[in-house]
Amino acid sequence: MSLSSLGPIVSVMVAVAVDKPYSYRVPEGMEVTRGSIVVVPLGPRPTLGVVWGAPEDNFAHNRLKDIAHVFEVPPLSEELLQLVDWVARYTLAQPGMVLRGALRSREGLDPPRPILAYRRAGPDPERLTDARKRVLDLLEDDMPWAKAALVGASGVSPSVIEGLVKAGTLEQIELPPPPPVMPPEPDFAPAALSADQQRALDDIRAHDTGGFSVALLDGITGSGKTEVFFESVADCLRAGRQVAIILPEIALTHTFLDRFEKRFGQRAAEWHSDMTPMQRARVWRGVLTGAVRAVIGARSALFLPFRDLGLFVLDEEHDGAFKQADRVNYHGRDMAVVRASLAGARVILSSATPSVESRNNANQGRYAHVKLESRFAEATLPDITAIDMREEGPEKGQWIAPRLARAVFDALDRGEQALLFLNRRGYAPLTLCRACGHQYQCPDCSTWLVEHRFRGVLMCHHCGHEERAPEVCGSCGAADSLVAVGPGIERIAEEVAERFPGARPVVLSSDMGSMTQIRERFAEIARGDYNLIIGTQLVAKGHHFEKLSLVGVIDADLGLAHGDPRAAEKTFQILTQVTGRAGRASRSGKAFLQTYHPEHPVMQTMVKGDREAFYAHELKVREQGGLPPFGRLAALIVSGADHDETFGYARALMAAAPLSEKVRRFGPADAPVAMVRGRYRVRILAQSPKEFDLSGYVRFWLENADPARGSLRVQVDIDPMSFY
Ligand code: ADP
Ligand code: ZN
Repeated sequence: MSLSSLGPIVSVMVAVAVDKPYSYRVPEGMEVTRGSIVVVPLGPRPTLGVVWGAPEDNFAHNRLKDIAHVFEVPPLSEELLQLVDWVARYTLAQPGMVLRGALRSREGLDPPRPILAYRRAGPDPERLTDARKRVLDLLEDDMPWAKAALVGASGVSPSVIEGLVKAGTLEQIELPPPPPVMPPEPDFAPAALSADQQRALDDIRAHDTGGFSVALLDGITGSGKTEVFFESVADCLRAGRQVAIILPEIALTHTFLDRFEKRFGQRAAEWHSDMTPMQRARVWRGVLTGAVRAVIGARSALFLPFRDLGLFVLDEEHDGAFKQADRVNYHGRDMAVVRASLAGARVILSSATPSVESRNNANQGRYAHVKLESRFAEATLPDITAIDMREEGPEKGQWIAPRLARAVFDALDRGEQALLFLNRRGYAPLTLCRACGHQYQCPDCSTWLVEHRFRGVLMCHHCGHEERAPEVCGSCGAADSLVAVGPGIERIAEEVAERFPGARPVVLSSDMGSMTQIRERFAEIARGDYNLIIGTQLVAKGHHFEKLSLVGVIDADLGLAHGDPRAAEKTFQILTQVTGRAGRASRSGKAFLQTYHPEHPVMQTMVKGDREAFYAHELKVREQGGLPPFGRLAALIVSGADHDETFGYARALMAAAPLSEKVRRFGPADAPVAMVRGRYRVRILAQSPKEFDLSGYVRFWLENADPARGSLRVQVDIDPMSFY
């Protein structure tokens, strides 16, 4: 749209918590179109915003304010603006807040700073010192040199160069800064695909319509899914379109960047929260101008201002970490599919354990179902055994059953690596006084404090509250009466030190240091510096350790006991992922699951290796219960400073629900974690059939209910993934 078609007054969406765009005047001589990024006065403050279109309503034009500034960058694409509206409508977030996610780099809007450089401009100076000669030798051909490079290569001080400028021999010029990354080369080093992989790639290509489509790349752990989707990335790059590979965890980015560089000869741009504002600015701007062709990043990459998006790859698409639970509650995988549909782009969802949602879409033909059923090279899937803890559990005070311990000894004896997996950080999940029964709780949350013995603290995993681990009971004052109840990985490490004195153990969880330190640990494990790995879900995914032949799951039941409709699915996924670490390189792996419920369908599935039976069973259960993907859920979480007031408001909210025979409502009920950060939490759940617009229903509900006042707040979670 041109200036004339929008007229002298436009609507602007400001990137703050607002519900709709506001009207502004376009001052004389300024040109804007839909998508232009601007600064407008909002109250007393200049605020970042985006031109949304023609003004929404007629009102007194003389009260309108002028747009203050328009940035000299390409406007945001039509599909990105539509995505903002779509996400806001679906998740009940304010569109201004969603837009904020698309304008994540304020610095990226300013023109990048040019680079100071020098080149030859005149005759040699009268006095030609050695230092000056070294500089001039470098500048012999007419190529300019960046200042830093020239100083480095010549070894002279900057004042020598300035002297040459004064003498008229050199001139200082400004060069445009280089792009953050060079374009990847689609044909740099294609992998020689196995027959199975080639078939999968052909299948993906056969489903390429040139426009929007989704393929579920459903391949067992170690089948080489990455090599396959890299070839689709190459196809997209050859077609001249942009691509993003979106990962559930930052910890995986570096492995991916390295693999990408080997395949494409250049690094992809990265995008996640662990970057400096300058790095973010360069990538954001590069994506907007088109200089950046490929991004590897976290879920927020799905809001980057691509000019011509061709492909989103979501690796480990089943991962719950794709769901964002901050101010805007969106599911990264689902919104990536929405954006691709608006952009006419492709999506590849890759996983060894697809979400039940995606499997259903594939079963129904909405997604192409591309399978990889064998491991790459001679590797085979590990042999999985359940250890019935009721029958053959460990001795009191220990957590590793004798059979698992023997298998660990055997693996270490053979010079291989073993992994003991427990998805619980810290030493013990509960500290209890034997004398008075006091249990250490977070002062601000209704949760137990987790002991972290390495650091000597008790810690709340909900709010981060920490206190020094006590020596005497804080309640009755008894000494030597505190006991740790249950294990965390630090406690397993303690048992390992006692029972496997010759092993070289390492403990790995997300709280064990910085990203860099954790990356170093992974590299050391890959090198074989350690042979016994004790870890949380951080080690469960993505990593490939050649020598790892044994996986022991300390508590396979851990995820099953929740009031979470996805508990079985999540447990199946994490168990498959972690046992899948074993035997990835042509040696047969083994895995043991320590469980008190060996008859549970999930344990049976694991032992029999029958994933198809799992999906069939789980889909049936979901269908019977009207649960996702056959029905919709929305959670309303009411929170407040006072319990009775919070509960009372939730009850009134429940009473104000619009009548609809399509919607079943449950609650209000105190949340399983009834207090977080000093606020009481009460939950309401709404359930509807799939075809029903549950977002619209909830919006109507809230608009017609008494607004939450004072300390009260209502948080809406469409398609909730957690139920705490
Ligand atoms: P997945 O993600 O499916 O679990 P990966 O893509 O990590 O599996 O592949 C497993 C291992 O096999 C990796 O080390 C990978 O480099 C290797 N691999 C897979 N396919 C090929 C191939 N065609 N050529 C060479 N190596 C491959
Ligand atoms: Zn807390």
